[in-house]
Amino acid sequence: MNEVLIGTALDDKVRIYCLNSTNLVEKTRLLHDLWPTASAALGRVESVVAIMASLLKGDDEKIVVSINGGGPIGTILVEAKGNGDIRGFVSNNEVYLKYDNSDKLAVGLAVGTDGYLSVSRNMGLKESFTSKVKLQTGEIGDDFAYYFAVSEQTLSVVSVGVLVDVDYSIKAAGGLLIQLLPNHTEETIVQVEELLKRLKPISSLIDEGYSSEEIMNDLFDDVKILGKKEIRWNCDCSKERFRAALATLDVSDLKEMIKEDHGAHIKCEFCNSEYEFNEDDLKNIVEFKSGF
Ligand SMILES: [Zn+2]
Repeated sequence: MNEVLIGTALDDKVRIYCLNSTNLVEKTRLLHDLWPTASAALGRVESVVAIMASLLKGDDEKIVVSINGGGPIGTILVEAKGNGDIRGFVSNNEVYLKYDNSDKLAVGLAVGTDGYLSVSRNMGLKESFTSKVKLQTGEIGDDFAYYFAVSEQTLSVVSVGVLVDVDYSIKAAGGLLIQLLPNHTEETIVQVEELLKRLKPISSLIDEGYSSEEIMNDLFDDVKILGKKEIRWNCDCSKERFRAALATLDVSDLKEMIKEDHGAHIKCEFCNSEYEFNEDDLKNIVEFKSGF
């Protein structure tokens, strides 16, 4: 279990979110056998999306973020729900790139910049809207800051990081989001710029053992904690859900699956669970659809 701590500071002119996502990212790594740069990229996205989802109200409200910059990692897809469930995957888990002459994981190179960051917000059954922005550096933090500025008209500082150990396990991971609220002034901007100069990478702070509350209090003098939100890795896929997805296919396609493959084998990309639908299962779906 990890939790997003939410607070305000600078006279209620900024909102701060802080998350230690080490367990979440480690669980993702084990599930998808992620190599270090893939862990860093997916872990960074998961950390920001978990923070974004911390304000969702309904259990069924969700945020889906997809990123594809044409780099070797392919697509990064992360989904988080109002109930705290989060799940994600990358197309290529076997990516281990470093910047020349450094130990720094080359997330920007692995993700690429020739593409978009897309955010879909799904508010229950009624509303869903998607907005996308061009990727800036592929380093994830910069890309989300640009998204918040352009799509949500909110000036934000996004610090997100994943430290990978020599055995590829996740040493520390986390995210810090500081957003200027609509009542901010020029002075608030100057104050935030000042503190950025002394902000250490969030993953280093977590690795050194600082709690979210300590990190916030170290940055601002007047932090007020508004609340916290638990998040956890969970995939809620089931045979029933995939049956419903199959039922959206055309009858002709289903009939072809019955004739050619005598069934369907479906793997959940989020959690790698596998589901078998035999000929009778598919015939039942066809019958059900033909009943309308
Ligand atoms: Zn699943």
